[in-house]
Amino acid sequence: MNARRPFMDSGFRIEIDRTVCDAYGTCAELLPELITLDEWGYPIFAAGNVPEPLLGNARQAVESCPIVALRLAKVPVPQPEARPEPRPDRQVGVPPWPPRPPQQPTRKSMPRKR
Ligand code: SF4
Repeated sequence: MNARRPFMDSGFRIEIDRTVCDAYGTCAELLPELITLDEWGYPIFAAGNVPEPLLGNARQAVESCPIVALRLAKVPVPQPEARPEPRPDRQVGVPPWPPRPPQQPTRKSMPRKR
């Protein structure tokens, strides 16, 4: 099985302690790709892990929070689901069913003489 991470996933997620966030909005200014602000100025985070190219910006946003409400948490990266084994009759080169010997015409299948 391929143990590599899915493309673009840094393996980190931004977590927030909402009990201390004072809605300064600094994080959203530094990482607008993943953080927007609600009508009161509290951050709303995009779902999922931080993409690899944005990890540097995410670190900067976390470090810039004046009251240390944010942190980057290492999370397990979801692995792609293992594909089930193909059915033996669906493999390349295998006929879709066991080949049968050609049938001899039976008396019922023969046309009747009148
Ligand atoms: S920078 Fe910190 S205090 Fe400001 S909105 Fe973001 S999490 Fe909240």
